[in-house]
Amino acid sequence: MPRPDGRAPDQLRPVSFVPNVAPHASGSVLVNFGNTRVICAATIQEDVPRWMKAQAVPGGWLTAEYSMLPYSTHDRKSRDISRGKLDGRSSEIQRLIGRALRAVTDLKKLGARTVWVDCDVLQADGGTRTASITGGCVAVAIALNRLIGSGGLTEFPLTQLVAAVSAGVCDDLPVLDLNYPEDRDASVDFNVVMTEDGNFVELQGSGEENVFTSGEMQEMLRLSQKGIEDLVGLQREAILAAGQDHGGSLPDLGSA
Ligand code: UDP
Repeated sequence: MPRPDGRAPDQLRPVSFVPNVAPHASGSVLVNFGNTRVICAATIQEDVPRWMKAQAVPGGWLTAEYSMLPYSTHDRKSRDISRGKLDGRSSEIQRLIGRALRAVTDLKKLGARTVWVDCDVLQADGGTRTASITGGCVAVAIALNRLIGSGGLTEFPLTQLVAAVSAGVCDDLPVLDLNYPEDRDASVDFNVVMTEDGNFVELQGSGEENVFTSGEMQEMLRLSQKGIEDLVGLQREAILAAGQDHGGSLPDLGSA
Protein backbone atom coordinates (compact mmCIF):
# COMPACT_ATOMS: atom_id res chain seq x y z
CA MET A 1 0.00 0.00 0.00
CA PRO A 2 1.48 3.40 -0.93
CA ARG A 3 1.86 5.99 1.80
CA PRO A 4 -1.03 8.53 1.99
CA ASP A 5 1.17 11.31 0.63
CA GLY A 6 3.00 9.06 -1.86
CA ARG A 7 6.40 9.17 -0.11
CA ALA A 8 8.96 6.37 -0.25
CA PRO A 9 9.32 4.47 3.05
CA ASP A 10 12.65 6.19 3.80
CA GLN A 11 11.56 9.67 2.73
CA LEU A 12 11.18 12.59 5.13
CA ARG A 13 8.37 15.06 4.61
CA PRO A 14 9.59 18.35 3.09
CA VAL A 15 11.59 19.89 5.94
CA SER A 16 12.41 23.58 6.17
CA PHE A 17 13.57 26.10 8.74
CA VAL A 18 12.62 29.78 8.84
CA PRO A 19 15.09 31.45 11.22
CA ASN A 20 14.56 34.56 13.34
CA VAL A 21 10.73 34.46 13.47
CA ALA A 22 10.61 35.80 17.06
CA PRO A 23 12.88 38.84 17.23
CA HIS A 24 12.68 39.25 21.02
CA ALA A 25 13.95 35.72 21.66
CA SER A 26 17.72 35.19 21.80
CA GLY A 27 17.31 32.77 18.86
CA SER A 28 14.28 31.42 17.04
CA VAL A 29 13.15 29.31 14.13
CA LEU A 30 9.93 28.07 12.60
CA VAL A 31 10.47 24.43 11.69
CA ASN A 32 8.26 22.69 9.14
CA PHE A 33 8.06 18.92 8.74
CA GLY A 34 5.37 18.79 6.06
CA ASN A 35 2.23 20.15 7.70
CA THR A 36 3.69 19.97 11.20
CA ARG A 37 4.92 23.42 12.13
CA VAL A 38 6.54 24.39 15.41
CA ILE A 39 7.85 27.75 16.57
CA CYS A 40 11.03 27.13 18.56
CA ALA A 41 12.52 30.00 20.52
CA ALA A 42 15.52 30.04 22.84
CA THR A 43 15.84 32.75 25.46
CA ILE A 44 19.01 33.13 27.50
CA GLN A 45 18.57 34.36 31.03
CA GLU A 46 21.51 35.52 33.13
CA ASP A 47 20.49 33.40 36.10
CA VAL A 48 20.36 29.75 37.18
CA PRO A 49 17.62 27.76 38.97
CA ARG A 50 17.50 28.00 42.74
CA TRP A 51 18.48 24.35 43.22
CA MET A 52 21.74 24.98 41.36
CA LYS A 53 22.59 27.94 43.57
CA ALA A 54 21.64 26.03 46.73
CA GLN A 55 23.83 23.05 45.78
CA ALA A 56 26.60 25.29 44.37
CA VAL A 57 26.43 23.43 41.04
CA PRO A 58 28.79 25.14 38.58
CA GLY A 59 27.70 26.18 35.09
CA GLY A 60 24.25 26.79 33.67
CA TRP A 61 21.03 25.01 32.84
CA LEU A 62 18.84 24.36 29.84
CA THR A 63 15.14 23.64 30.12
CA ALA A 64 12.24 23.32 27.66
CA GLU A 65 8.54 24.03 27.54
CA TYR A 66 6.16 22.56 24.94
CA SER A 67 2.65 23.55 24.12
CA MET A 68 0.14 23.10 21.31
CA LEU A 69 -1.53 26.34 20.31
CA PRO A 70 -5.34 26.06 20.53
CA TYR A 71 -5.71 26.23 16.75
CA SER A 72 -2.89 23.78 15.98
CA THR A 73 -5.28 20.83 15.98
CA HIS A 74 -8.41 20.14 13.92
CA ASP A 75 -10.62 20.51 16.99
CA ARG A 76 -9.67 23.47 19.14
CA LYS A 77 -7.45 22.39 22.03
CA SER A 78 -8.00 24.43 25.20
CA ARG A 79 -4.95 26.13 26.63
CA ASP A 80 -3.57 24.39 29.70
CA ILE A 81 -4.01 27.61 31.68
CA SER A 82 -7.77 27.55 31.13
CA ARG A 83 -7.89 23.95 32.40
CA GLY A 84 -5.69 24.84 35.35
CA LYS A 85 -2.99 22.21 34.76
CA LEU A 86 -0.32 21.11 32.32
CA ASP A 87 -1.46 17.98 30.52
CA GLY A 88 0.59 14.81 31.02
CA ARG A 89 1.51 14.52 27.36
CA SER A 90 2.95 18.07 27.23
CA SER A 91 4.88 17.47 30.42
CA GLU A 92 6.40 14.25 29.03
CA ILE A 93 7.30 15.95 25.75
CA GLN A 94 8.93 19.00 27.29
CA ARG A 95 11.10 16.82 29.51
CA LEU A 96 12.17 14.84 26.43
CA ILE A 97 13.10 18.05 24.59
CA GLY A 98 15.15 19.26 27.58
CA ARG A 99 17.01 15.94 27.90
CA ALA A 100 17.78 15.85 24.18
CA LEU A 101 19.23 19.36 24.13
CA ARG A 102 21.17 18.99 27.39
CA ALA A 103 22.84 15.87 25.92
CA VAL A 104 24.72 18.13 23.49
CA THR A 105 25.20 21.15 25.76
CA ASP A 106 28.31 21.70 27.83
CA LEU A 107 26.56 23.35 30.77
CA LYS A 108 29.85 24.49 32.29
CA LYS A 109 30.76 26.41 29.15
CA LEU A 110 27.33 28.05 29.27
CA GLY A 111 28.30 29.84 32.50
CA ALA A 112 25.73 30.87 35.12
CA ARG A 113 22.86 31.15 32.64
CA THR A 114 19.59 29.40 31.86
CA VAL A 115 18.53 28.66 28.31
CA TRP A 116 14.73 28.46 28.03
CA VAL A 117 13.59 26.60 24.93
CA ASP A 118 9.95 27.27 24.11
CA CYS A 119 8.33 25.02 21.54
CA ASP A 120 4.85 26.09 20.46
CA VAL A 121 3.05 23.96 17.91
CA LEU A 122 1.43 26.10 15.23
CA GLN A 123 0.08 23.19 13.23
CA ALA A 124 0.02 19.56 14.34
CA ASP A 125 0.17 16.75 11.81
CA GLY A 126 2.21 14.09 13.61
CA GLY A 127 5.76 14.24 14.93
CA THR A 128 5.48 17.46 16.89
CA ARG A 129 7.93 16.28 19.58
CA THR A 130 10.59 15.30 17.06
CA ALA A 131 10.13 18.56 15.14
CA SER A 132 10.44 20.44 18.46
CA ILE A 133 13.79 18.81 19.26
CA THR A 134 15.14 19.38 15.75
CA GLY A 135 14.00 23.02 15.65
CA GLY A 136 14.88 23.60 19.32
CA CYS A 137 18.49 22.71 18.62
CA VAL A 138 18.62 25.26 15.78
CA ALA A 139 17.10 27.97 18.00
CA VAL A 140 19.64 27.28 20.74
CA ALA A 141 22.56 27.36 18.28
CA ILE A 142 21.37 30.71 16.86
CA ALA A 143 21.00 32.13 20.39
CA LEU A 144 24.46 30.96 21.46
CA ASN A 145 26.07 32.30 18.31
CA ARG A 146 24.52 35.69 19.02
CA LEU A 147 25.78 35.61 22.59
CA ILE A 148 29.28 34.90 21.27
CA GLY A 149 28.85 37.68 18.71
CA SER A 150 27.96 40.17 21.45
CA GLY A 151 30.96 39.15 23.56
CA GLY A 152 28.94 37.35 26.27
CA LEU A 153 30.64 34.01 25.65
CA THR A 154 33.92 32.92 24.15
CA GLU A 155 33.41 29.19 23.60
CA PHE A 156 30.42 27.59 21.85
CA PRO A 157 28.63 25.43 24.47
CA LEU A 158 27.00 22.98 22.03
CA THR A 159 29.25 19.96 21.54
CA GLN A 160 27.37 18.94 18.37
CA LEU A 161 23.87 19.06 16.89
CA VAL A 162 20.98 16.82 17.91
CA ALA A 163 17.92 15.96 15.82
CA ALA A 164 14.92 13.67 16.10
CA VAL A 165 12.51 11.90 13.81
CA SER A 166 9.67 9.42 14.09
CA ALA A 167 9.36 6.03 12.46
CA GLY A 168 6.67 3.41 12.59
CA VAL A 169 5.16 0.35 11.03
CA CYS A 170 2.22 1.05 8.74
CA ASP A 171 0.52 -1.81 6.90
CA ASP A 172 3.41 -4.09 7.93
CA LEU A 173 5.97 -1.74 6.37
CA PRO A 174 8.54 0.23 8.42
CA VAL A 175 8.36 3.90 7.36
CA LEU A 176 10.07 7.17 8.31
CA ASP A 177 8.55 10.43 9.62
CA LEU A 178 4.86 9.63 10.04
CA ASN A 179 2.20 12.22 9.36
CA TYR A 180 -1.01 12.24 11.41
CA PRO A 181 -3.04 9.73 9.33
CA GLU A 182 -0.08 7.34 9.42
CA ASP A 183 0.53 7.95 13.13
CA ARG A 184 -3.14 7.23 13.88
CA ASP A 185 -3.13 3.92 11.99
CA ALA A 186 0.41 2.74 12.77
CA SER A 187 0.83 -0.53 14.65
CA VAL A 188 4.17 0.64 16.04
CA ASP A 189 5.25 4.15 16.92
CA PHE A 190 8.92 5.09 17.38
CA ASN A 191 10.63 8.38 18.24
CA VAL A 192 14.38 8.48 17.78
CA VAL A 193 16.72 11.19 19.08
CA MET A 194 20.30 11.11 17.77
CA THR A 195 23.36 13.29 17.76
CA GLU A 196 25.17 14.24 14.59
CA ASP A 197 27.99 11.80 15.36
CA GLY A 198 25.43 8.98 15.11
CA ASN A 199 24.85 8.17 18.78
CA PHE A 200 21.45 7.78 20.42
CA VAL A 201 20.10 10.10 23.08
CA GLU A 202 16.69 8.55 23.49
CA LEU A 203 14.47 5.93 21.89
CA GLN A 204 10.75 5.80 22.55
CA GLY A 205 9.05 2.87 20.88
CA SER A 206 5.79 1.12 21.53
CA GLY A 207 3.41 -1.26 19.87
CA GLU A 208 -0.04 0.27 19.57
CA GLU A 209 -2.32 -2.67 20.45
CA ASN A 210 0.37 -4.66 18.69
CA VAL A 211 3.87 -6.09 18.91
CA PHE A 212 6.93 -5.64 16.72
CA THR A 213 9.81 -7.85 15.65
CA SER A 214 13.48 -7.28 16.17
CA GLY A 215 13.84 -6.98 12.38
CA GLU A 216 11.20 -4.24 12.22
CA MET A 217 12.93 -2.40 15.03
CA GLN A 218 16.30 -2.58 13.27
CA GLU A 219 14.71 -1.25 10.09
CA MET A 220 13.03 1.64 11.95
CA LEU A 221 16.38 2.54 13.48
CA ARG A 222 18.10 2.37 10.11
CA LEU A 223 15.48 4.64 8.54
CA SER A 224 15.75 7.06 11.46
CA GLN A 225 19.52 7.18 11.28
CA LYS A 226 19.38 8.12 7.61
CA GLY A 227 16.65 10.70 8.26
CA ILE A 228 18.63 12.28 11.08
CA GLU A 229 21.74 12.57 8.90
CA ASP A 230 19.64 14.56 6.41
CA LEU A 231 18.10 16.66 9.18
CA VAL A 232 21.50 17.60 10.61
CA GLY A 233 22.58 18.89 7.20
CA LEU A 234 19.48 21.08 7.03
CA GLN A 235 19.99 22.29 10.60
CA ARG A 236 23.53 23.40 9.78
CA GLU A 237 22.36 25.33 6.73
CA ALA A 238 19.66 27.07 8.79
CA ILE A 239 22.09 28.03 11.57
CA LEU A 240 24.55 29.46 9.06
CA ALA A 241 21.80 31.33 7.17
CA ALA A 242 20.52 32.86 10.42
CA GLY A 243 24.02 34.08 11.26
CA GLN A 244 24.48 35.63 7.84
CA ASP A 245 21.17 37.48 8.17
CA HIS A 246 22.62 39.18 11.19
CA GLY A 247 26.08 39.66 9.80
CA GLY A 248 27.63 37.57 12.58
CA SER A 249 30.54 35.23 12.12
CA LEU A 250 29.87 31.68 13.19
CA PRO A 251 32.18 29.59 15.30
CA ASP A 252 32.83 26.03 14.26
CA LEU A 253 29.92 23.92 15.50
CA GLY A 254 32.21 21.05 16.32
CA SER A 255 32.48 17.63 14.79
CA ALA A 256 31.05 18.17 11.32
N1 UDP B 1 -2.86 15.30 18.37
C1 UDP B 1 -3.97 16.13 18.44
N2 UDP B 1 -4.38 16.55 19.67
C2 UDP B 1 -3.73 16.21 20.82
C3 UDP B 1 -2.60 15.38 20.74
C4 UDP B 1 -2.19 14.95 19.49
O1 UDP B 1 -4.55 16.46 17.42
O2 UDP B 1 -4.16 16.63 21.91
C5 UDP B 1 -2.41 14.84 17.04
C6 UDP B 1 -1.35 15.77 16.46
O3 UDP B 1 -1.48 15.84 15.05
C7 UDP B 1 -0.08 15.08 16.85
C8 UDP B 1 -0.50 13.64 16.62
O4 UDP B 1 -1.80 13.57 17.14
O5 UDP B 1 1.01 15.49 16.06
C9 UDP B 1 0.37 12.60 17.28
O6 UDP B 1 0.44 12.84 18.65
P1 UDP B 1 1.53 12.17 19.58
O7 UDP B 1 1.05 12.28 21.00
O8 UDP B 1 1.93 10.85 19.05
O9 UDP B 1 2.79 13.20 19.49
P2 UDP B 1 3.66 13.70 18.26
O10 UDP B 1 3.61 12.64 17.18
O11 UDP B 1 3.04 14.99 17.81
O12 UDP B 1 5.03 13.89 18.82
